[in-house]
Amino acid sequence: MAVCELEDCWIQFLDFIKPRCSSAEFQNWLSPIQVIPSTKEDLVLQVPNIFVREYILDNYKKELSCFIPVKADGDLAMQFVVSEPEKKAAPAPMPMIESAQKQDESLLNPQYTFESFIEGPSNQFVKSAAQGVAFRPGKTFNPLFIHGGVGLGKTHLLHGIGHYVRAQHKKLSTQYITAESFINDLVTHLRNKSIDKMKKFYRSVDVLLIDDIQFLQNRLNFEEEFCNTFESLINQNKQIVLTSDKPPSQLKLSERMVARMEWGLVAGIGIPDLETRVAIIQQKSLQKGFSIPNSVAFFIADHIFHNVRQLEGAINRLAAHCRLTETPLTQEVAENLLKETLYSSSPNKISVESILKSVATVFEVRMSDLKGETRVKEIALARQVAMYLAKELLQESLMKLASSFGGKSHSTLLHSWKKISLEMEKNPVLKKQIFLARKNIES
Ligand code: ADP
Ligand code: MG
Repeated sequence: MAVCELEDCWIQFLDFIKPRCSSAEFQNWLSPIQVIPSTKEDLVLQVPNIFVREYILDNYKKELSCFIPVKADGDLAMQFVVSEPEKKAAPAPMPMIESAQKQDESLLNPQYTFESFIEGPSNQFVKSAAQGVAFRPGKTFNPLFIHGGVGLGKTHLLHGIGHYVRAQHKKLSTQYITAESFINDLVTHLRNKSIDKMKKFYRSVDVLLIDDIQFLQNRLNFEEEFCNTFESLINQNKQIVLTSDKPPSQLKLSERMVARMEWGLVAGIGIPDLETRVAIIQQKSLQKGFSIPNSVAFFIADHIFHNVRQLEGAINRLAAHCRLTETPLTQEVAENLLKETLYSSSPNKISVESILKSVATVFEVRMSDLKGETRVKEIALARQVAMYLAKELLQESLMKLASSFGGKSHSTLLHSWKKISLEMEKNPVLKKQIFLARKNIES
């Protein structure tokens, strides 16, 4: 493959991964990597140190294999070179290790408040729980565990708690930290032999807000320290709030850790319904000083449904376009500009959501299960059918379709499609169910 095509593969990988990891993770590990022009058949990446290479291969191999060609020997067509440390002019970008306190100040987004969080049936319960712990820290649910898909408002609510406690309980100390930064901090303190200082600091915190706990998975050494801190805070009635992309039972963590997380209240945040999405679009555009006609807001909300961050991206693009060209925003403009983002471009409005709805009804499962990870036989089969129908009925790339199923890989989608195609031929009941689901979708 030509070098420039390989470079494109890397850029596409970064575009794919950026919304799926924390900004700290992206900044620390991915953005310091540079593509080195080379005549080799492999993509050559310059990394600041060997740890970055290990980290990338440990954490992103699966995703990389969707973008980078695989060679005949099964390895990815990529190589790493470590940048030269002696080049003083451009010091090698090291993973940024911030002290937790510094991060807390800079990372509480002033816009992520309870007031700006739009309520709907999918998040009402979680919002009330978050407000409950913010109003009476340590006295209601402890810990509060918030889980849900990417871009559904977990971090927003966590910051909301932080803002509220700071404003209303001035004597209490709050600490917001991502699980990744917690690990980074731990590594630094272990290296500097100052671990007692860190323990003392965390154990003095009254409200500890930990984002993206899924980052602790497969990091057994850190898990133990984390669990100790956790227990000592809970025993002192200090409030802990955690977020994660999965419920505790689905995280690959020790039994002890999962049990601790389930001590208090576990609350899931779902995909907002149409009305809530419209309200979010209107509120976000108002925040940006941009007005979106109701019909256009509905149009966008109808097509972008599984990630609020994507709704925001759409608003940003539309606002930039209309400001630069000084044209009013109409549905036609929105349609043209957002063509790539919109999930259903077919005239009869088939969308991943309508497929999920129909499959959920026919197979008598919940829509949320179809996007989840549960391996329960009936649910897994229904999920595979939904993927099969998505590939059959929508003209989208496999990658895009797969991401609509709670971030599955395109090979999972393809596997499901093949499996169901074969299964249908052998199983007349299944064939009938699929026929029925398809009829509902197309009607
Ligand atoms: P997560 O942490 O679940 O990946 P975020 O909290 O970062 O998601 O939310 C992504 C974006 O969507 C943020 O800008 C956030 O303000 C916005 N958002 C999500 N849900 C809501 C909501 N119910 N009301 C207002 N904004 C929301
Ligand atoms: Mg988040």
